[in-house]
Amino acid sequence: MEFNQNAQLDPSQLTPGGGGGRGGGVALGGGLGLIVMILGLIFGFNPGSVLSGVSADTGTTQSNSNAYAHCQTGADIKNDRECRWVAYVNSIQGFWQGQFQQGAYQPAATVPFTGWKDTACGAADSQVGPFYCPADKKVYIDTAFADQLLQQLGAQGGDAAEAYILAHEYGHHISNLTGDLGRVQAAGNQTGPSSPQVRLELQADCYAGVWFKAVSQDPQGIISGVTQDDLNRVIDAAAAVGDDRIQESTAGQVTPESWTHGSAKMRQYWVGQGFSTGDPNTCQSVMTTDQLEG
Ligand SMILES: [Zn+2]
Repeated sequence: MEFNQNAQLDPSQLTPGGGGGRGGGVALGGGLGLIVMILGLIFGFNPGSVLSGVSADTGTTQSNSNAYAHCQTGADIKNDRECRWVAYVNSIQGFWQGQFQQGAYQPAATVPFTGWKDTACGAADSQVGPFYCPADKKVYIDTAFADQLLQQLGAQGGDAAEAYILAHEYGHHISNLTGDLGRVQAAGNQTGPSSPQVRLELQADCYAGVWFKAVSQDPQGIISGVTQDDLNRVIDAAAAVGDDRIQESTAGQVTPESWTHGSAKMRQYWVGQGFSTGDPNTCQSVMTTDQLEG
């Protein structure tokens, strides 16, 4: 995929974070974003305790100025690859803005950080991977760690895979705005292949697929020139973060009853459903359907 040189970028959608403080919020499903649970397994800690509300201001290395302020157009990505994060976020939010009734979409900032970050969902270590915090409606990501993480998980990585990670986190934001996320949180933290928690993760994958479809059909957009290889990388990344893959490589066995995000097959299926239909309503159906994989 390519970045449209003339596209205007809005770096204000990435913020140094603001706020912090101890919140009573619980990150998604007790459980967080795309990869947090997974890394918890790999590095042998309990993500529940990582996002426990410990004040961690001392470890935060974030300054208060916007490190992306110079990212003004797509052409700036050539000079500074870091600007691609602005392009991802702008593209994703631009799409969803258009999907909601006018004024109904609430923008969600992405907060890049390194080290520790205090969030409304508690303190987070960048090693936990990207996540969405429903309580403050922000996406948190260690941009430097994201690609490394994909490789660690055996994914091909690349721009499209990175963009998928962010699109997945924004998918959680969409579920938050539609109310599905709140309903799942209210239902508690059951796990398992057809649990509400897994459905919510698959819904986020589906929303990511819907966005990617729109990108592939809009040559004038911020991101253009989507290729089959890009789509393959997205599907590949979705599979790499499947619960069964992770369990197999970390524990040597697969225990579906403990799944929180769904199997590789399920995740691929729902990214694919989103991409092939390009219809957000498809993603709503994941909450109730019996067919969770192809
Ligand atoms: Zn997720």
